[in-house]
Amino acid sequence: MHKTDRIFVAGHRGMVGGAVVRTLKAAGYENIIVRTHAELDLCDPAAVRAFYASEKPDVAVICAAKVGGIGANSAGNATFLYENSLIAMNTVMGAYEAGVKRLLFLGSTCIYPRLAPQPIPETALLSSPLEKTNEGYALAKIAGLKLCEYLRRDRGVCYHSLMPTNLYGTGDNYDVVGGHVLPTMIRKFETARVNGDATVTLWGTGTPLREFLHVDDLAAACLFVLEMEDPPDLVNVGSGVEITIRGLAEKIKAATGCPAEIVWDALKPDGTPRKLCDTSLIRSLGWVPKIDLDAGLERTIAEYRSSIADGTLRK
Ligand code: GDP
Repeated sequence: MHKTDRIFVAGHRGMVGGAVVRTLKAAGYENIIVRTHAELDLCDPAAVRAFYASEKPDVAVICAAKVGGIGANSAGNATFLYENSLIAMNTVMGAYEAGVKRLLFLGSTCIYPRLAPQPIPETALLSSPLEKTNEGYALAKIAGLKLCEYLRRDRGVCYHSLMPTNLYGTGDNYDVVGGHVLPTMIRKFETARVNGDATVTLWGTGTPLREFLHVDDLAAACLFVLEMEDPPDLVNVGSGVEITIRGLAEKIKAATGCPAEIVWDALKPDGTPRKLCDTSLIRSLGWVPKIDLDAGLERTIAEYRSSIADGTLRK
């Protein structure tokens, strides 16, 4: 990748796309092309084709996706499968048809089987059944990464994928019904602290294990693989550190200074019991995460508070 390349970042208004744009600019890549959803509907193949034909980017980074936490995914597998398949097929095949030589496709470690070996190596892909709560999303992402793999193998373009673990950070979605666990917990504990509530209700049993990565670390990993001449097809990105949902709740309760008691609603789903990705591949290539969970939480809670104060919270 060259500093003068025209780089299309799909999904720049999302948490991941926003971080990728900031990171590319900070590294001296100024020629960045973005489109809002209103300007370009990535589910519309003709619109995406016309966009690529007129803009002719050198590189595309596909961060756009319909995402959500366990609540949104388990209630909406059909929509998550449909919209994410359309976005993946249109952005990847459209890029190929327009002569884009380099493309990075972003997925998620939920593409791996529910009971994959832990930590999960890239080779666990398609080795056994998926977790049901987010199967639709996972299937769409698997289709996207496979399309990249086939185009690279059969047609000689450098299209490759990164699979990040659970992400959090700047620009996250704080919707308490459809959001991911970490931002949702920040919002629940902060709301309880401000309102003086006696309890905070969280979902499931608190026993599942999750791994969290700050989105700025992911964006650095994106730049790292984009600057490689011959990156592997599929690379995991994670912090390598796991924590129980209960442990995360205690950490956020302490970091927000919320005295409320935690109540677990076991009628809500736990999801996959454990999801720690094996990051030995990306580490062997020379990338390491820089933001540990305590520092990342402190920063994210401060950002949450200022976005509440200035009315810019995304929910
Ligand atoms: P996942 O990692 O793909 O399963 O998705 P999430 O980011 O939504 O995390 C879900 C895990 O956090 C499950 O084990 C939930 O039971 C647990 N959890 C606890 N409280 C909450 C909550 O308030 N919202 C969400 N989304 N998950 C919660």
